[in-house]
Amino acid sequence: MIRLVVVVAAALTTALLTATLASADTVVLRDRTVLDGSVSKSGESITVAGKKFAKTNVLLWEDGDGVAQYSASFRDHLDGCYALANRERLKLCLAALPQAIASGAGAHAWELLAAAADSGLDAADEKTWRAKIGKLKPGTGDFKIPGQDVLAGVLAKRALAAADDDQEKRSWLLLRAALQTGVENEDAQDLLDEVAPANWRVGKPYNRRIWLDWHCDVIQDGMRAVGRNQPDIQRARGLWRDENGETVKLWGAQTQEITFITRMSESNIVSMCTKYAWLSCKSLDQMFKTDNPQRDDNDPLVIWFFENRGEYLRVHTGASDGGGNFLAMSAGFYSPSSNTSNFFWLPGRVRSVRNTFVHELTHHWVDRRNPRANPKDLAVGGERSVVPGFWIVEGFATFIEEGHYDIRSGNWSHFNPKASAIDIIADLSKQKKVLDWANLLSLTQVDFRNPEKLEQKKRHAVIKKKWALRPQPIVAIRLFYEQSAATCHYLYWAENGKYRQALLDYVTNFYCARTEKTDIKNAFGLTPEQLGANVEKFCIDVMNGWHPPKE
Ligand SMILES: [Zn+2]
Repeated sequence: MIRLVVVVAAALTTALLTATLASADTVVLRDRTVLDGSVSKSGESITVAGKKFAKTNVLLWEDGDGVAQYSASFRDHLDGCYALANRERLKLCLAALPQAIASGAGAHAWELLAAAADSGLDAADEKTWRAKIGKLKPGTGDFKIPGQDVLAGVLAKRALAAADDDQEKRSWLLLRAALQTGVENEDAQDLLDEVAPANWRVGKPYNRRIWLDWHCDVIQDGMRAVGRNQPDIQRARGLWRDENGETVKLWGAQTQEITFITRMSESNIVSMCTKYAWLSCKSLDQMFKTDNPQRDDNDPLVIWFFENRGEYLRVHTGASDGGGNFLAMSAGFYSPSSNTSNFFWLPGRVRSVRNTFVHELTHHWVDRRNPRANPKDLAVGGERSVVPGFWIVEGFATFIEEGHYDIRSGNWSHFNPKASAIDIIADLSKQKKVLDWANLLSLTQVDFRNPEKLEQKKRHAVIKKKWALRPQPIVAIRLFYEQSAATCHYLYWAENGKYRQALLDYVTNFYCARTEKTDIKNAFGLTPEQLGANVEKFCIDVMNGWHPPKE
């Protein structure tokens, strides 16, 4: 009989244990309600303690150890953690309140009540507590008011849980959120020491937080950090020097599209630039997509990003291409021989940096990643420099530069009614001061560099949409870029995209030096004069509100 009781007791213990485990899960709903209980998931719903919720209504489901079992996004996970921290804070406040009241610490009681209300105490309960505290004198006692420390604790615990669960990315993001509360949390510090590389020496002073920030910004877009011994980093390290001629620490981030190398420690700037680079390349990948790709050697485009002009000049002075005077005047350049796009940061000039960035990367992309060009057929620079139709090189890069790239949503549009090219050509068209179209569309790169081949007369244009109301001087070289870009805007968008494929083919044919195919009439079925007239009319139409149906 006794034995039997023992057996039953053991069975009961097991059953109890199982029940405890099963009910240890926590679910946070989108309205911040926190539920505990046994959880199961099926298809698009999650059932907690017998109640069923659509996954879209669930921010976070985690087990008793704080390991996330489900959360649609990091944002949801984080919001779920805030809700859990609020619940914990509320519990702590309500536990301390009776003691504060009993000991007559009125001031602290009010503070605890305010913190509780802030953490979601319901109005009726608040009223009851108010009545209880109301008669107290404003004394204080030994009461800690739970605040950001609770949030830091909740986040650090989840960061540790994610690390233990091999969720590296989630763990870093949660750790950063924990550190951002500004509260020293031991768990968070330990984890940071553990994950940040011991040899990390960046910024002044040496700071592991920078490493974490940078990693978090970079990995949020599906990028990965580039190892110290990766060949692209090593190659850059061979050339990169600081003010004293010493080698510098470099680091990098990589996607399928780009490898980004810099020594800059401002993670927000690096992150923004990598996102523009990545997004503009992605837009080109999509634009040139073909069922019959001609290349599969799609190495990422290598980008060197300098923290200032001095560093940029120091590293590139004496470079075999893109060097010399040109370099001092440039804001960036693409070097075909070294397969790098090069840029530097200009404080306060985000738009300008971004534009240079997208422009040079477009040159880079067309040369290295265009799936419609077989690498064997691509002409080298010298061969290409005598092919008529150089307008496509600068026009196309400027057209892509003038697109709209939303790095937050990851969307883009190549139609931009505020594009300078459209604005300027519309104005100069009315003044009958554009460059001769037949000449412009037939120039080679060599011709373009010869001032006698471009009409140098003085021109001023009112660039309305950029809010420069006074006429701006437009030199011939600039006008060549704008007119060429306007031509691309037209060929891409006009007549429901009738010329779009011909435009993309023209890009490919020029880069492959197929001279006969760069003839305007052959390529588009229009004479250069007709094409020019159409472009001018298109620009005026856009300025008057015309816009295309969706891309
Ligand atoms: Zn260019």
